[in-house]
Amino acid sequence: MNLNRMTDTFVKSWAEAFHYTAEHSPFYREMFRGMKRVPRLEDLPTVDKKTLSERNLDLLCVPREQVVEIVTTSGTTGRTLLWMFTESDLQRLAINERQSFECVGLTARDTALVAVTLDRCFVAGLAYWLGLRQLGCTAVRVGPSSPVMVLEMVERLQPTTIVAVPSFLKMVAEKAKEMGFDLANSSVKKTVCIGEPVRQPDFSPTSSGRAIEENWGARVFATYGVTELASSLCECEAGVGGHLHSDLLHIEILDDAGRPVSDGEVGEVVATTFGVEAMPLVRYRTGDCAALFRGRCVCGRATPRLGPVLGRKNQKLKIKGASVFPSALQAVLESVEGVDAFVIVARAESELSDSVEVLVCGGASAATLREAFQGRVKIAPKIHQVPRSEIEALQMPPHSRKRRYFVDLR
Ligand SMILES: [Zn+2]
Repeated sequence: MNLNRMTDTFVKSWAEAFHYTAEHSPFYREMFRGMKRVPRLEDLPTVDKKTLSERNLDLLCVPREQVVEIVTTSGTTGRTLLWMFTESDLQRLAINERQSFECVGLTARDTALVAVTLDRCFVAGLAYWLGLRQLGCTAVRVGPSSPVMVLEMVERLQPTTIVAVPSFLKMVAEKAKEMGFDLANSSVKKTVCIGEPVRQPDFSPTSSGRAIEENWGARVFATYGVTELASSLCECEAGVGGHLHSDLLHIEILDDAGRPVSDGEVGEVVATTFGVEAMPLVRYRTGDCAALFRGRCVCGRATPRLGPVLGRKNQKLKIKGASVFPSALQAVLESVEGVDAFVIVARAESELSDSVEVLVCGGASAATLREAFQGRVKIAPKIHQVPRSEIEALQMPPHSRKRRYFVDLR
């Protein structure tokens, strides 16, 4: 019954998206030329970020005077990709984010600190703020730069929730410790985490997710969003993948050959937006790898759930016949005692194999690390002990927007 209703929603939403893009999008008008009837979505070609970068403004379906917001996201040409929204798109973004926060269990009674960037042409902070407002929560835009301001607001406003990047939550926890602030017993009971992994592929918390839960005495909720899709998916209390809002977005998971994979199997996330006015997308290859789970969730929602993102498709490492995502190596490094900082560097060795080096500092010995890698991911990267400054220079090159733990020189 429920499944039929979802299918009907899909058929209607896809037909609308097809007719709209075929008529208004210069890019899709070209692609869909000669198609008189609504094609099957899976019969259409996919589009990747390279195409978006090359044809950026050909994806715009409305006259420029209807655009009310422009943000940027990373591109493939060295310049950022421009992404545009109409008033109706911002409302859709707010609905999407409200639904995501409903998964977290927030209501109008909640006060949430928004500790992510609202400027610098990012969309995420704006989307969260719009969603919290639509839900009727009290939003407090503390931003991501001052742990002291966060702690002050926790004390004065008694917020229930904080939306932040995990590494910033860690900084706040360190500051709290330094100031003798009892964060674990504060009013904050939910942390909505974006941008860095807080769950492993089996949904257990990563070491950073576990540290947040301990230091904050709060639940961790993972959320995943893509600027170009004007959408995000957020976990519910069950913590078994981000719930898809099927009326706003359709997701397929494809293998390297472009075929759909089975339920729960990892592949590339390919998405089609519904209800977008300015820059709708059809079968967009996000480059992110994750699995989709279609079974009903214990929270009662029947919508599919997207599992943790294991990494970018082009980041997958090939080491002596085995393939592994840098995130798996990162999880190993985060779990070993005595690793103060690290960065993973990949270079091309041959067609079939990459050379992977791990630069670390701290007390952990190379032998301990080698054993941990062999035991957990069954590969042995080269390990080098280097000064912390060398690692930090690789993690944060000039003008970078976020810290990186993986450097790809292939
Ligand atoms: Zn659920």
